[in-house]
Amino acid sequence: MDKENTKGHFIESIIREDIKNNKNSGRVNTRFPPEPNGYLHIGHAKSICLNFNMARKFNGRCNLRFDDSNPAKEKQTYIDSIKASIKWLGFEFENPLFASDYFDDLYDFAVELIKKNKAYVCSLKGDDIREYRGTLTEKGKDSPYRERSLEENLALFARMKNGEFDEGEHTLRAKIDMKSPNINLRDPIIYRVKKAVHPRTGDKWCIYPMYDFTHCLSDSIEGITHSLCSLEFEDHRPLYDWTLDELETPCHPQQIEFARMNINYTILSKRKLQRLVDDNHVQGWDDPRLPTLEGMKRRGYTPESIRNFCDAIGVSKKVSRIDMGLLESCLRNDLNEKAPRVMGVLKPLKIIIENYPEDKTEELIAKNHPQKEEMGTRTITFSREIYVERDDFMEDPPKKFFRLGPGREVRLRYAYLVTCKDIIKDENGNVTQLICTYDPETRGGNATDGRKVKGTIHWVNAKDCIDAKMMLYDRLFRDEDPEKDKQDFIENLNPESLQEIESCKLEKSLANAKPEKVFQFERVGYFCRDNMDSKMKDVANSSPVFNRTVTMRDAWAKMAKNRTK
Ligand code: ATP
Ligand code: MG
Repeated sequence: MDKENTKGHFIESIIREDIKNNKNSGRVNTRFPPEPNGYLHIGHAKSICLNFNMARKFNGRCNLRFDDSNPAKEKQTYIDSIKASIKWLGFEFENPLFASDYFDDLYDFAVELIKKNKAYVCSLKGDDIREYRGTLTEKGKDSPYRERSLEENLALFARMKNGEFDEGEHTLRAKIDMKSPNINLRDPIIYRVKKAVHPRTGDKWCIYPMYDFTHCLSDSIEGITHSLCSLEFEDHRPLYDWTLDELETPCHPQQIEFARMNINYTILSKRKLQRLVDDNHVQGWDDPRLPTLEGMKRRGYTPESIRNFCDAIGVSKKVSRIDMGLLESCLRNDLNEKAPRVMGVLKPLKIIIENYPEDKTEELIAKNHPQKEEMGTRTITFSREIYVERDDFMEDPPKKFFRLGPGREVRLRYAYLVTCKDIIKDENGNVTQLICTYDPETRGGNATDGRKVKGTIHWVNAKDCIDAKMMLYDRLFRDEDPEKDKQDFIENLNPESLQEIESCKLEKSLANAKPEKVFQFERVGYFCRDNMDSKMKDVANSSPVFNRTVTMRDAWAKMAKNRTK
């Protein structure tokens, strides 16, 4: 993954410099701070890789801290899923930490700010708060409650804590500068009344600290040295620093921002993904079309391919949209190495080999990987009736179609050369079967007389193959930018993002395939068994379901190329 002797990205350079200057006594401590209000997506993977890799590279540590200060949206199931996803990605963490564990400290810090005349209880209501705050072009004006006495502030804040007020009646605000060009510094709210039960602290609190107040202090309490976050927090950095300076905390982490990951043809925002799930545009958070880590895992993405992708795109301050093709090529590169080869036919066409004995079944040896001997071999069976891919036959083929056609000879992978002798059709003229002959001298696939046969096709034995349903996934959105021209991304959904194909035929060895284990179906693509325990209970008793992880080659790149021809 990381090349030890390269200089690395700009954050790595900053950390190296800090170590050289013995800042923080040379210590490096990063953190990954998800809010447990949804499932992780591949954008989070960028932050996870960055934080954990920096800690590992400089012998430091990376904390997993749940930023759980908004009980209305947070759930234990999200906490569990986030932990599992980080482990699946390949990163170790000690006991996870929780911002809610610091609620007592945060309350004390707030009291301290009040005592320093740097915070006050404000009784403006929602709309008025907004109006007083001003806009980007208009300065804010002071709240009429700004000059409350210290005693009054302390008393009111205590009463807020004791549950004497309703939500929205009072807030605690930092006293900074209502005329600041940075709106985040216009007396931001640091505590609000929220009568919600928290997944971890129960009903102990009815006031909760805001993100900006919670985040910097949690970083400081944990002794974080480098607080790495995405660019949208750049304008919050002055508040981060103000809070820690005013409270004179012994540890003042350095916030460094980097550009979020964006990928074309998908969306990376928990809120927007939530909408796709809630409105049933997809089948759940782990729908294999979603860029959630759970969805990608179910689809067959390997953790290595995601880490390699994060490595390949690097870390910078420049916002860009990355081509989905790059992610898929990282996946293909990894799977090409690891995925055992098998045979499966998506759209079966039956072949009867008329000169092959009716009751005979032969065992043939097939390689599990064409280059990797260490991946071994398996036994496949051959008999008089087999299935081949419908697309591997043409009634009137062009010259360069090196597959089956009337009178044409083709190699069956690992088996024999066969020649098409006759075509059987139904009353509508559709081809239903091919009658072929085989050359018994060509076991293994080569002719003894030296005749050349160019084409090799895959097949399965009709006698013992299994039936399966294949889920073919395509891009979730039609346009590269699903929100092109400010349109609602729902309007841009690709209606063909899922194609289900029933009655596919697979070699028998796949009957016991385990979920997430990806196979290369030779010539067809990479597939893995769907995780039956998840959303698809209805198919539990029918034939197995396989997800197409990725195609063999980038069909989209090819299409784009053809268009420009
Ligand atoms: P979302 O908008 O998807 O809800 P978020 O930032 O609100 O994302 P958090 O759980 O708060 O979600 O994020 C945890 C960490 O992951 C933050 O440090 C955040 O900056 C980072 N992160 C989230 N999305 C991305 C992304 N697309 N690229 C890089 N980092 C991201
Ligand atoms: Mg967030």
